[in-house]
Amino acid sequence: MSRKTTPPTGRFAPSPSGRMHMGNLWSCLLAWLSARSAGGRMVLRLEDLDPDRCRPEYCDQVMRDLEWLGLDWDGAPVYQSRRTGAYAAAFRALEEQGLVYPCFCTRAERLAASAPHRSDGVAVYDGRCARLSPAEREALSQTRRPAWRVRVPEREVAFSDLLQGEYREELSRDCGDFILRRSDGVYAYQLAVVVDDAMMGVTQVVRGSDLLSSTPRQLWLQERLSLPHPEYGHLPLLLAPDGRRLAKRDRGLELGQLQECYTAPQLVGLLAHAAGLIDRPERITPRELVPLFSWDRLPREDLVWGPL
Ligand code: GLU
Repeated sequence: MSRKTTPPTGRFAPSPSGRMHMGNLWSCLLAWLSARSAGGRMVLRLEDLDPDRCRPEYCDQVMRDLEWLGLDWDGAPVYQSRRTGAYAAAFRALEEQGLVYPCFCTRAERLAASAPHRSDGVAVYDGRCARLSPAEREALSQTRRPAWRVRVPEREVAFSDLLQGEYREELSRDCGDFILRRSDGVYAYQLAVVVDDAMMGVTQVVRGSDLLSSTPRQLWLQERLSLPHPEYGHLPLLLAPDGRRLAKRDRGLELGQLQECYTAPQLVGLLAHAAGLIDRPERITPRELVPLFSWDRLPREDLVWGPL
């Protein structure tokens, strides 16, 4: 008897800190194709938590950019900046489990207090503020506003990625106690993303492999908060010819500039060709690509973005 599988719910989760760029477009197109080719839903979340970097006008622009490319979504977009109450509740739930502690380290102290070997290049915090006595905490809180960290266990978290295969991390060694809430009160990405993926019913997360090493933290938080685990697919990154990852500072690759040179079907064709979905970089729409999408065709290695 064949088992009927439920179509996935995928998501776009751009950070509206500027125009979309090639790297976002690549992940958004492939996340959309993965969900739509399996008859699934696609939801949109604007990750606008950081008031220093995100602006409301960028949110509108991101939506226009997705539409321009031919990507649609179901239901109303979710704005993280409006969901602080939900993050506060999750934070309290972790606090009640005795897992949260204030960290008074300044950035410089944090760097000094770290062993530099996490896979994403970020230093592993040594947990020194977890060992402060109540009196020391009290004294420090007179002069500094703390960030809040969650205490991770000595435990291996493993999962099977749709594209990268098995991936595992030992949380205390490879990741360390991580920040849930910044000292300015802003909730951290890791917390917000697990709360929102669950609330939005996301069952499939497709994103760049720069976030692969965040996934064990997210899986562990889901477990602590009794939230379901989505499946994950981490895409290879698009690199500049010198091997750097394409970033917002590569201004020529921002959508505003790309639109001066390409129509949407031309740009989609270039991306689809790089993804191995079509043989030549010809004009094509996301809709026309739906029947051609297959995880088996996608490259596993990072790609140098040559055509531009
Ligand atoms: N907002 C993140 C970004 O634009 C993506 C986060 C995620 O997909 O989990 O890079």
